[in-house]
Amino acid sequence: MSPALGRCQSELYAAEAESIGRRGIRWTKVAAAQAHVDRLVGSPWFAGRWPHFVHCAIERRGRGSVWSVSHPLDSDGPGGLPTEGVILVADGALAQPVLLHELAHLLVPESAGHGPAFAAVHLSLVRHDMGFDAYAEYLGCLRRRPPFAGLAAG
Ligand SMILES: [Zn+2]
Repeated sequence: MSPALGRCQSELYAAEAESIGRRGIRWTKVAAAQAHVDRLVGSPWFAGRWPHFVHCAIERRGRGSVWSVSHPLDSDGPGGLPTEGVILVADGALAQPVLLHELAHLLVPESAGHGPAFAAVHLSLVRHDMGFDAYAEYLGCLRRRPPFAGLAAG
């Protein structure tokens, strides 16, 4: 990992923790989280932005896992982006900000890492799915950090 990407990752994680980390919905059952993500991905709002992306499966990663991750399941979208993906949720992390973070990874090229292009997509998901207050707080926390100082509202 390049130093620049590593820096973006730690700054983005810190901004998330400071703003949306404790907000949003937490689920106890995967089926409830899956239904939420299905509604989001199936919404006209989502289809208007990412029409190629059709399904995201939620699975538990397993006991003792610390990080949630996402994996593309194909490369059939524009520029090789996936049309389907899976989110493997870490122990105790079945929460709205985590799912939106991992979903955002599936919507940008892997090369975007945790940089500004990733942050812009994550922000738009947070704004739509968690509401304006969560979005505004997260945007403010990101903009105080050099890699994200130039992020546009949107
Ligand atoms: Zn990430």
